[in-house]
Amino acid sequence: MNYPQKVNAYCPHCKKHTEHKAKLASKGRARTLAWGNRQHERVIKGYVGKVAGEKAVRKQGKRQKIVLTCSVCKKKQERVIGTRTKKKLEIKA
Ligand SMILES: [Zn+2]
Repeated sequence: MNYPQKVNAYCPHCKKHTEHKAKLASKGRARTLAWGNRQHERVIKGYVGKVAGEKAVRKQGKRQKIVLTCSVCKKKQERVIGTRTKKKLEIKA
């Protein structure tokens, strides 16, 4: 799946369409003290090994995300491209 390097997109900060630079969104590091992680630790407390959190249904593929950077105000915004797919998103030069 290809995506152009520069797109004309709406910027909510400039409140108009401006040129944006596209970049692949990288997943950030999971916070160990986040509420969901603390709750999961409470649930599996007392058990040995993995007992909870196993998914019954495996979804096919991931939704690809890009980060658009406004060329005027340099603010960033995320955008989801298409639906679930196994294909990797590529930024075309
Ligand atoms: Zn802007």
